[in-house]
Amino acid sequence: MAANAAPFVILNPPKFGAACNGCGRCCQDILCPVAIAVFGSVSAPCPGLEFRNDRYWCSLIGLASEEYRAFLMFRMGIGRGCDSCFAEDFPDD
Ligand code: SF4
Ligand code: SF4
Repeated sequence: MAANAAPFVILNPPKFGAACNGCGRCCQDILCPVAIAVFGSVSAPCPGLEFRNDRYWCSLIGLASEEYRAFLMFRMGIGRGCDSCFAEDFPDD
């Protein structure tokens, strides 16, 4: 976990497809392809997740060079809204 990561703070995710609010639930539940390439077979939460200014951020973005950053953001889905679904999104039948 990043040095400045806080003990996990619970923030509610938005609806699927809505703007990301930095709740961090996705990266607490599973590692993205970039995280697997960087950290290997570690368990979630992702070691790259950090809590700052009342929301979660991916610390790897800030470490990447400017030309590589756009590629990372594409692979992570950053800027395309929330792409995560959680158990509460699927009410019991
Ligand atoms: S993409 Fe991740 S951090 Fe952003 S709102 Fe969805 S679950 Fe939260
Ligand atoms: S987006 Fe960043 S914090 Fe989230 S799983 Fe990927 S590498 Fe980890």
